[in-house]
Amino acid sequence: MASGVPEQLGGPPPPTPAMRLPGLRDMHIHNWARTYSCRPAVVFDPTTEDEIRDVLAQARYHSARVRVLGAAHSPSDIAFTSDFLIRLDGFNRLLTVRWVVMSVSM
Ligand SMILES: Cc1cc2nc3c(=O)[nH]c(=O)nc-3n(C[C@H](O)[C@H](O)[C@H](O)COP(=O)(O)OP(=O)(O)OC[C@H]3O[C@@H](n4cnc5c(N)ncnc54)[C@H](O)[C@@H]3O)c2cc1C
Repeated sequence: MASGVPEQLGGPPPPTPAMRLPGLRDMHIHNWARTYSCRPAVVFDPTTEDEIRDVLAQARYHSARVRVLGAAHSPSDIAFTSDFLIRLDGFNRLLTVRWVVMSVSM
């Protein structure tokens, strides 16, 4: 059940994804060492927080689980899934640099 609440119990209907960020299908994703791989149902490349919200709404609608891939450097299958995969390659903009504490926001 998309909303997590059975409709026969009076739960709300699942939200209709508003933006519908298109995703990629038939992708074969590997980790850096190519020791693990997966074939997600859909791979998304959001570039804004709104697009991430959109992916999560789509996942809720389809009762799909979501994993987030960073650089795929982890020597494990921790980020892999056969459901929805979010790649963060589009989150590559430097927003702020705080020199005093040596930190950046992206
Ligand atoms: C070539 C190479 C060089 C590296 N150099 C360094 C280094 O210099 N210093 C260092 O500390 N590490 C190093 N690592 C290890 C790497 O930083 C870690 O494996 C890190 O977790 C990978 O992050 P990611 O964003 O690529 O994760 P992904 O594999 O893309 O996974 C996605 C998400 O899963 C989560 N995740 C991943 N691994 C773990 C974990 N073990 N536990 C909990 N959550 C996790 C994170 O939230 C991550 O964003 C290196 C790995 C490689 C392959």
